[in-house]
Amino acid sequence: MFRECTSTPDTLVAVTETPIRTRFAPSPTGMFHVGGARSALFNWALAQQSPEGRMVLRVEDTDAARNRPEWTDGIIRALAWLGISDADPHFEGPYFQSSYADQHRETAQRLHADGRAYYCDCTRDQVQERRDNPNLGYDGFCRDRGLEPGPGRALRFRVPDGGPTVVEDRIRGRVEFDHAAIEDFVIARADGSPLFVLANVVDDVEMRITHVIRGEEHLSNTPKQQLLWEALGLTPPVWAHLPVIVNEQRKKLSKRRDKVALESYQEEGYLAEAMVNYLMLLGWAPGDDREIMPWSQMQPLFSVADVNSSSAFFDEKKLRAFNGEYIRALELDDFIHRCQPWLSGDAAPWDPADYDAAVFRAVAPLAQSRVAVLSEIVPNVDFLFLSEPVEDEKSWNKAMKPGVGREMLEAAQARFADPGQEWTADALKTATEETGASLGLKLGKAQAPVRVAVTGRTVGLPLFESLEGLGRERVLSRIGAALERLRNQEKDAAQA
Ligand code: GLU
Repeated sequence: MFRECTSTPDTLVAVTETPIRTRFAPSPTGMFHVGGARSALFNWALAQQSPEGRMVLRVEDTDAARNRPEWTDGIIRALAWLGISDADPHFEGPYFQSSYADQHRETAQRLHADGRAYYCDCTRDQVQERRDNPNLGYDGFCRDRGLEPGPGRALRFRVPDGGPTVVEDRIRGRVEFDHAAIEDFVIARADGSPLFVLANVVDDVEMRITHVIRGEEHLSNTPKQQLLWEALGLTPPVWAHLPVIVNEQRKKLSKRRDKVALESYQEEGYLAEAMVNYLMLLGWAPGDDREIMPWSQMQPLFSVADVNSSSAFFDEKKLRAFNGEYIRALELDDFIHRCQPWLSGDAAPWDPADYDAAVFRAVAPLAQSRVAVLSEIVPNVDFLFLSEPVEDEKSWNKAMKPGVGREMLEAAQARFADPGQEWTADALKTATEETGASLGLKLGKAQAPVRVAVTGRTVGLPLFESLEGLGRERVLSRIGAALERLRNQEKDAAQA
């Protein structure tokens, strides 16, 4: 076994006899959660800090009723998106808990043979009848009955008298658990199948895990698991329980209330680098004022000992801001490449044949400077690829004022149709300014109806670059269509 040196930072554990072996041990029972991603990244950072370091991916797939293979695939895909995969030599696995069933059974039997566990045939009702306070848990009735295995007999661990068990948690410090408060817990069911508490330890032993870094919700399992390690004659791993992640209302992040699936962030157009950066700051900080920091710089600085024990706020607004910064830092070609799933994929709202890469390239720098997530690219550029602008009633009602709106559009139509009108953003701006001035309108008021006629919306990319990109013919036809609608509206209003 490795020799633990509890008084040194975890980075120094690397100099002890065994290389660092961390693990990420998700249960494939649902969408991959941002909290799981944070645990994986912390384990990954530590594993990458030494050449021999490894992070084991262990899929805890023993809850047959709740597992689904697609969740396992989702976990592997999501980890790869974050940069955690077998393409890196620090990665090991995936291993599946279900393949270790023999070891789980053998260990349970060994604990029984060594007198560290005993069979118990008490039903829940019987225990309840014997206890005044059922919350106290099992009363130890079968401890010395010497029952052999048999139907209806579960195997319980004999929690040593005395105690307490002291868990030295790398984040929380010393946590004491009085043995009087730990019942003789079940480690295997009557059918021989192991409980989580045992399977998890046996796998960690088999996989020679040196550091267990996981969510705070497992802290209460830890004294039991430490007792199991000790009963097996082994030194427990370094324990580190990460702070709970909370939402804006300071409530624990939950899949019912909050957007927690990593995949939803990916689908919305968060960049993996921004996500990794942000997740690393949930409970940890590099130690100076810098927050935006790439993995390559962050990973060597990470230390479990520096993780904070108080809850970490998952601030979606801050994540968005991070993402915007990462988007702006991309090379233009890379930005264009990363937008492709939204532009030329099936999800794009226009006919794929109408997507024009050259047109997008022309406006891409404008788009890059204003989106916070890549999916926002679509409402910014859809007017370029849809045969007609989107219908957005709110924008229409705001910009298309009867009378003045129509007059502005008529004047713009005449000016833009003039063959002498140069078709560049600058010239179009001057034209709009002058046209507006002739009607007593400032530029802001003058351009609003033009923008809504051409793009469908009151907000979007800079207007004059948009007009240039769309071309004279399409601009004129859209202004013509908007005018027709406006005139009809005016007519209807007059008749009413
Ligand atoms: N499979 C457990 C879970 O997903 C994790 C156990 C552990 O990390 O020890 O909560």
